[in-house]
Amino acid sequence: MIDTKRFLSLLLALLLLFSAACAAEEDTWICLTCGQDATGDTCAYCGETRDVWTCADCGTRNLSDTCTKCGKEKKVSLAVRASSPYPLTAFPALRVLAASGDAEALFNLGKYYEKGLFVTQDDEQALRCYRDAAEAGYAPAWVYLGRLYDAGVMVKPDAAFALDCYRKASEMGNAQAYWYLGSFYEEGTAVEQNYGMAMDYYQMAADRGDADSWMSLAYMWLQGKGVEADQQKALEYYEKAASLGSSLACDYLGYLYMTGTLVTRDTAKGIEWYEKAAELGNARSMYALGYAYQCGQGVDISMDEALKWYEKAALAGHKNAYLVWKAYRK
Ligand SMILES: [Zn+2]
Ligand SMILES: [Zn+2]
Repeated sequence: MIDTKRFLSLLLALLLLFSAACAAEEDTWICLTCGQDATGDTCAYCGETRDVWTCADCGTRNLSDTCTKCGKEKKVSLAVRASSPYPLTAFPALRVLAASGDAEALFNLGKYYEKGLFVTQDDEQALRCYRDAAEAGYAPAWVYLGRLYDAGVMVKPDAAFALDCYRKASEMGNAQAYWYLGSFYEEGTAVEQNYGMAMDYYQMAADRGDADSWMSLAYMWLQGKGVEADQQKALEYYEKAASLGSSLACDYLGYLYMTGTLVTRDTAKGIEWYEKAAELGNARSMYALGYAYQCGQGVDISMDEALKWYEKAALAGHKNAYLVWKAYRK
């Protein structure tokens, strides 16, 4: 009798424990301030109260769904914060939006798992985010998956699957995907090499606003791939790419004029193209301008100007420019 009682009370205790565990699991929430999982009424990581969110516009902390100071909607504020360039701001919003099935947020959250930023680095989790985002219809996620499978990053290389990914994205009209399909046909990767198809895909990418794709078309004309080589035509296409805002094309034209490749050497023109490319954020052109001022190519020698451009290039991520800037600055 005593044993039965003991058994029953043990069972009851276990049941209670089990239901408590279930309840706790159900009660997990994502802290909108630090982005960590929390339970109860307060976040154990940052001490924030449950459901508190900070307005993206005025910085007010709120509990209700509209900002008490400026009237901004919580949902809108979350979307703004999710697109912040500062990971500390974006991460909590991304987690909340991803949990609600937002495809773009899922894709961006994948990058945090890939890099191990605010979370334990986890390739599997990253890939799950990318796949879920792709399946939810986010074309850039298909393109990204294609690149991972093409290069064999985090996964075993699989060119055929990469091709499928690019096709999926291209069906959604993604310009980058058309470019990748073109490159597969140009190289004969996972498909039979076909320059005609390559040019068609490059053209489709270009028509969808991918200015860099005009450069690939120019290269086909330059190399005579699928067409009779035509330098003049290639140059026209490089200029077309440049006029449509391709910083790569501006930079390349700068190089052609500085070195007298395909064109008559004209350093003044070269400098002009480099300046255009630099305006569009091209780090290599900024570096080239630094070098031009240092050596007096197409401009009067000026170490001050050179350093100014090396500094800009370094800030734009050019590694060599940073080393040169460090070596020459006063
Ligand atoms: Zn927190
Ligand atoms: Zn506000």
